[in-house]
Amino acid sequence: MSKEYVSTRDPDQERHSYDESLIQGLAPDGGLFVPSSIPRLSEGQIKTLLGLPYTQMFAGVKELFSYHDTKILEEISRRAYDLNRFPHQSDGVVTPLRPVGNTGISIQHLSFGPTAAFKDMALQPFGQEISRVLAERGDTLDILGATSGDTGSAAEAAVKGLERVRIAMLSPLSGMSKFQRAQMGVLSGGNVLNISLKGNFDDAQRIVKELKGQPEFADLGAVNSINWARISSQIAYYFSGYAQVLQQSNLKFGDKIDFVIPSGNFGNILAGYYARAMGLPIRNLVAATNENDVLHKLIQYGEYKKVESSVTDSPSMDIAEASNVERVYYDLAGGDPTLVAEAMRQYLESGVMDLGYLGVVKSAMRTVAGLNSFRTSKADREQAMRITKDSGAGFIDPHTAAGMAVAYKLVAQSDDETPVVVLETALPVKFEDRIQEVHGEIPDRDPRFKGIDEKDMKDQFVVVKPSVEAVAEVLRDNWERAA
Ligand SMILES: *Cc1c(COP(=O)(O)O)cnc(C)c1O
Repeated sequence: MSKEYVSTRDPDQERHSYDESLIQGLAPDGGLFVPSSIPRLSEGQIKTLLGLPYTQMFAGVKELFSYHDTKILEEISRRAYDLNRFPHQSDGVVTPLRPVGNTGISIQHLSFGPTAAFKDMALQPFGQEISRVLAERGDTLDILGATSGDTGSAAEAAVKGLERVRIAMLSPLSGMSKFQRAQMGVLSGGNVLNISLKGNFDDAQRIVKELKGQPEFADLGAVNSINWARISSQIAYYFSGYAQVLQQSNLKFGDKIDFVIPSGNFGNILAGYYARAMGLPIRNLVAATNENDVLHKLIQYGEYKKVESSVTDSPSMDIAEASNVERVYYDLAGGDPTLVAEAMRQYLESGVMDLGYLGVVKSAMRTVAGLNSFRTSKADREQAMRITKDSGAGFIDPHTAAGMAVAYKLVAQSDDETPVVVLETALPVKFEDRIQEVHGEIPDRDPRFKGIDEKDMKDQFVVVKPSVEAVAEVLRDNWERAA
């Protein structure tokens, strides 16, 4: 039943509700929540979804995964994707698809939300959902997170002003761009608390983890990308992408298309993996990585080695650990949680995950899970930024550029005319320094973002040294939590 959830590591496969997975994020045994089965839609059901405006399409997908009724889901979706938050929408399309010259490639724009990154697509409804569940339970939630960039502002924008939720974000004092800092800074106050660490992102993550291990802070919530609520919200835009390809080409329903997804934590592409499992006609799902290519190696060679990530021009893809792949491991293991738990134990112990632990061949990510991947270099991305602009499709950011670089490669190698959709993951405005470097100019800013990094943000951040006790003090002071 797709409305009940189990942990990828629980041998008893105890059932949990959607709301439990929403609030807990991670399962109690450290595994990830997955639906106990993925709904397989009929052709008629898919066609109906494809004909709906985005907010209803979203509700139609979510309805398959939770017991909330359609009216409530539509309300959540209308609020999450309203005109104030997504001002570029028209005719019921929130994630418009635009062709890149006559290359056969289109870009699906997912970044028109309040913080200019696709994370808004999942976090905006997350804020609405969590506040609704808390109200039903008469409960409140304090969230503590760590960010090195996009997640911080997207999460804060999602819960800003909500009554039952407070959020504190730890970020490194240096390392984030001025624009990213400003995006968070303007949200400070009310239920949003920004804490700046005289340290780096690893310090921030370590402190969050240690604090949550203490009884006093054990009840703190998280908003990370493994949350099923986020993944399931992302499935809808694959349906919208497919619907728009049908409108813009001479394809007929049932013809397959390819998606290329700039990938880091494997959340975005995983939503496509489920959309296809539900019956959406997708042929290839291709992950585009940057130099931090652990995912690429896993997909190509069947081995995942935990490594230190390095800093690139596409920082939101600089990840060392793509936690969401565990959901694919679960499928590869034939839904056997004992096998997954044992494989993850070996991985945590040795730092190496071998698909052999799951009893499958090294090529299984491709041959069984149906995924593919390419790694891109800085030069590849730079070239893609240039070609895309020259073809009249305008400026793209370095993350979307990884996807475009891969799409150009795919189209050149392909012997058919299957349309390729590249998911845009951020707007150029977030990475103006790099855009300036590549093109010698930057595009006009959307009025929403004009001048925000010129304001003095000093007072918007509480600056502390990177220690658990220092952060605990700030939380106690600001949240009046009992010591
Ligand atoms: C988060 C992010 C990604 C990576 O997405 P995953 O779901 O973690 O794979 C890519 N690009 C941008 C701009 C992001 O913010």
